[in-house]
Amino acid sequence: MGVNDSLRVAILGGGVAGLACAFRLRCIAPDARLTILDAASRLGGKVDGDVVKGCIVDGGPDLCVGAKLERTHAFEALALDSRLIPVNPNRLPTYRRGGAALHLLPFVMTDGLVTFRRGMRDVVQLLAGALGGADVRTGVAARAIERSKHGWRVITASGALLEADAVVVALPGPAAAAVLSGVAPNAALVASRVKYAPMTTVSVGWAASDVAHDLGGTGYLVSGGTSGLVSACTWTSRKIPSRSPPDIVLMRGYARGADAAAATDAVLADMREVAGITTDPLFVRAFAWSDAIPKYALDHSISVRALDEEIASLPPLALAGAAFHGVGVPDCIASGERAAESIAARILRVVA
Ligand SMILES: Cc1cc2nc3c(=O)[nH]c(=O)nc-3n(C[C@H](O)[C@H](O)[C@H](O)COP(=O)(O)OP(=O)(O)OC[C@H]3O[C@@H](n4cnc5c(N)ncnc54)[C@H](O)[C@@H]3O)c2cc1C
Repeated sequence: MGVNDSLRVAILGGGVAGLACAFRLRCIAPDARLTILDAASRLGGKVDGDVVKGCIVDGGPDLCVGAKLERTHAFEALALDSRLIPVNPNRLPTYRRGGAALHLLPFVMTDGLVTFRRGMRDVVQLLAGALGGADVRTGVAARAIERSKHGWRVITASGALLEADAVVVALPGPAAAAVLSGVAPNAALVASRVKYAPMTTVSVGWAASDVAHDLGGTGYLVSGGTSGLVSACTWTSRKIPSRSPPDIVLMRGYARGADAAAATDAVLADMREVAGITTDPLFVRAFAWSDAIPKYALDHSISVRALDEEIASLPPLALAGAAFHGVGVPDCIASGERAAESIAARILRVVA
């Protein structure tokens, strides 16, 4: 099908966007040489998690919009349907916490949301496991890209060089801005304007017999400004019952800031007060995110669309991920897939 066997694609960032891009390219161009660079020691970016005392703990996202996920290439290609379960199967209400009181919200917030039965990290493992012979380099940060004779040269933080025919930038805003600044100033500017607030999720396992409250809901949002650290609490055992065994109540608090110790203290105090708990937890698992969820400038999507001309004037280059194309996991997967298709259309001249 006219595929250039020696095509070299460098994918910068191994979050869901970068991984979905790599998987889509693997399907379109099985012989392409894919290199994924990720600064962290593991793949998945914001999609992380753990299993503690039989509880499935999500550290970043814990759910996603089912209808959007269904529209991705990965959904069919990796049979994701068989791995998904509905969120809040009992259609429990959510509360708003104002002072000491919990007030019922007048609608169910979780309709149409799904999650992976084995935790959200399942999607990372599935994508990463389907990359064939891709060269995956964790612990390697990209510092810059520059044009070279045949396309691109990626320069890593340690000064190593990687030649590529095409580059996909699937990085958080600040890293994308730094990498793009020498070759695509408009794209770098758009990326630099994406702001992130730090956030820590604190998952706590309590002995079910120690929880006095009946927890007849999915949890609560904390209203009343930004004075306290805790912004919300999910009663995970109610929202996603299969996340915990029957004798453990799993809860997850959201705290502002990336100080895990302060977040843990604040979340534990909040959970104890609301649920009438006086004992110590069975476990605590915190995930601190210094750059949690992007906040776009008002004109962000217009600015991103306006980058097409700059990108088209360069050797094959594509932008993917939450810094550019939407924050939800399905948005990131879809943007990674579109990036793969645009690279394929330019280099391989095959219709994806
Ligand atoms: C606490 C939390 C809760 C969330 N909840 C939900 C939810 O319930 N539902 C939902 O749909 N979404 C949710 N999100 C958002 C969603 O998880 C993210 O927007 C999405 O996972 C981002 O994917 P990405 O691949 O674009 O970026 P990232 O996951 O940020 O991946 C980027 C990768 O680039 C790497 N990197 C950074 N700098 C460099 C560099 N210089 N060189 C090489 N690699 C580099 C990073 O290590 C990372 O692996 C949540 C996010 C957080 C933090």
